[in-house]
Amino acid sequence: MRGSIATPGPGTVRYGGNTSCIEVRHGDDIIILDAGTGLRGLGQMLLTEFKNQPLNLTLLLTHTHWDHIQGLPFFGPIYDPNCRLRILGCEGARKGLVAALTGQMESTYFPVPFDKLPSNIDIEELKDFNFSIGAVLVRAQLAHHPGVCVGYRLFSPDGIIVFFPDTEPRGGNGDQAMLDFVRDADVLILDSQYDRAEYKSHTGWGHGCVDDSVALAIKAGVKKLILFHHDPDHDDQRMDELVTHARALVTQANASLKVEAASEGLVIQLGGK
Ligand SMILES: [Zn+2]
Ligand SMILES: [Zn+2]
Repeated sequence: MRGSIATPGPGTVRYGGNTSCIEVRHGDDIIILDAGTGLRGLGQMLLTEFKNQPLNLTLLLTHTHWDHIQGLPFFGPIYDPNCRLRILGCEGARKGLVAALTGQMESTYFPVPFDKLPSNIDIEELKDFNFSIGAVLVRAQLAHHPGVCVGYRLFSPDGIIVFFPDTEPRGGNGDQAMLDFVRDADVLILDSQYDRAEYKSHTGWGHGCVDDSVALAIKAGVKKLILFHHDPDHDDQRMDELVTHARALVTQANASLKVEAASEGLVIQLGGK
């Protein structure tokens, strides 16, 4: 949930210091959103749960900035021959997606080369922005972010999740395309890196602020907003203040939106189960 770089230390114990990684489960389908440093811990949990059973995973990458791919070489299941991993994402800005992902495992950066991994890994660039994974319908949308970056909208009978970790609502609380993309989400996980004052000096950097996120979520009829991509300089106390500020904005607007900040291990159940 942390943006830009992992930030371990006493100041980030409660919200966590790992970068972007979310697991979504629907029936037997396991979908992973982004491969930030949080992916390492998820890999350990999956290997413990599935032991020697086959593991079928789909990883959706928003983009190939470091904080969204650096966990991949440390993801235990890629060293397990029982694992089949399908990776989907946009082309890595100037290089292709395959080159962007395998490049970080070249010997300059990492001891194990990608082509020596014993698992079955398919890397596919998104051709169609509408597709399905098992019973989950997925739609991708381009973000307002440097390079090529997308958000994902996941739809199942249990509910709608929108994952948009790196994007900047334009014109205050988003353009029409972004409004439509996040509309009626049960859970919106949205880039809210800055407060209002910080955003003023970072406009155009491709990240949003808490005030704009709350306004967008209310306007789009979102049920729960999860503040995401926390600034590396925001410690737990600052994060508490941002959550309190966000909830005050909701009260001022007389809206029913729920707001939380993403934290390590946070679990949300959809579909009333
Ligand atoms: Zn990022
Ligand atoms: Zn980025």
